[in-house]
Amino acid sequence: MAYTYDPQNIFAKILRGEIPNDTVLETEHSLAFNDIRPQAPIHVLVIPKGAYVTYDDFAANASDAEIIDYTRAIAKVCAMKGVEADGFRMISNAGENGVQEVPHLHVHILGGRGLGRMLERG
Ligand code: AMP
Repeated sequence: MAYTYDPQNIFAKILRGEIPNDTVLETEHSLAFNDIRPQAPIHVLVIPKGAYVTYDDFAANASDAEIIDYTRAIAKVCAMKGVEADGFRMISNAGENGVQEVPHLHVHILGGRGLGRMLERG
């Protein structure tokens, strides 16, 4: 499926500097910042700077350099936040069934407390 990227989404505005963010890490191709409505003591969003809607869009269409940078940025955020010891969860919601609110690829890194089972039933 070909995704259509909406350049007016809120993360695109963050990347253009039009609205502020609480930056955790910036690399050549990636940006990590604290979620504005944290659902755990640690809740960081990691986004590529490129215009990708979902993880599968990114994985299929990003350059090798972007993919390496993004993957390593996630590792750096995990190390910076110290979540390896107690564990953490990565989530990347996509589309309607995934209840994706912002149509620019983002991975949520959640930690700092027990997070319960992966999905609620129903
Ligand atoms: P999702 O449902 O996976 O698309 O999640 C989007 C996330 O973006 C939510 O957890 C929001 O709290 C978060 N969010 C929305 N606007 C901002 C913002 N301006 N700065 C930081 N996080 C945001």
